[in-house]
Amino acid sequence: MPLSPTVTFHDGHRIPLLGYGVFKVDDDRAADVVGQALAAGYRQVDTARLYGNEEGVGRALRASSVPREEVFVTTKLWNDEHAFDAAIAACEASLDRLGLEQLDLYLIHWAVPEQGRYVEAWRALIALRERGLTRSIGVSNFPLAELEEIIAATAVVPAIHQIELHPYFQQRELRAAHAQHGIVTQAWGPLGQGKSDLLENPVITGIAEAHGASAAQVVLAWHRAHEIVAIPKSVTPARIVENLASLELSLTRGELAAIDALDRPDGRGGRDPGRPWG
Ligand code: NDP
Repeated sequence: MPLSPTVTFHDGHRIPLLGYGVFKVDDDRAADVVGQALAAGYRQVDTARLYGNEEGVGRALRASSVPREEVFVTTKLWNDEHAFDAAIAACEASLDRLGLEQLDLYLIHWAVPEQGRYVEAWRALIALRERGLTRSIGVSNFPLAELEEIIAATAVVPAIHQIELHPYFQQRELRAAHAQHGIVTQAWGPLGQGKSDLLENPVITGIAEAHGASAAQVVLAWHRAHEIVAIPKSVTPARIVENLASLELSLTRGELAAIDALDRPDGRGGRDPGRPWG
């Protein structure tokens, strides 16, 4: 299987366009499936403190014959750790659980606007990068106003913004802002998280049939064509391989345009980052 092409951050570091996510995968299972993903050829793993599987991810990284420097590892700061000192300690604790000296990417998991500490958390991530605990820093689930605010307050632009993004929810406004700032866009829930009929949509399945590919492969090829980093999750061995094999699928301009047209105003499947947690 070919390795994923990469996209370059404004800080000069590179991230594979296709990676592997482990939301809702318990620690022991994560050790197993991340091992499978690395063996298949994935070189990017996305976890978070919230997922409770950083230790399992770390075990898989150590057990793998793939050298550490060839794997891009991301984890995230949870919502109760936005105070500066708490954020520093949280990153150190994540590194301990992962058994790593340095992350490739550390993200603020959610802005939590009503908590009002995302600028403080962003200053902590800037300090963590300066101290060498992470190579790159970014955010996840920031409404546009809060994204603009952390940039204005610190003059430091996130390398990447990880957001819900799939053909039913294409995030055009945020993607335009990312393009202006030089921020890479990363898609969580790239396959729609199984919450909609995305993988049965006739536009997608028609394109899949034309290529002898699966619907999931078509969706992942669409992300890649737009230079959107996608991190599909699967604990199913055949799907782990199938999703990676989307790298061998290239869509035509007409096919991409047909998928672009599937965007829906009500296409969001997950939590709205602007809505209070309550
Ligand atoms: P995905 O869109 O990746 O969908 C995962 C679901 O799709 C699972 O039920 C999986 O089933 C199924 N699936 C995977 N591959 C295929 C396939 N080839 N054909 C059919 N079904 C398939 O959703 P996620 O929520 O997992 O998002 C991906 C990653 O993004 C997460 O794992 C996490 O790393 C990150 N994330 C980040 C968030 C954030 O707030 N920053 C929020 C949510 C996710 P099965 O596993 O049974 O094979």
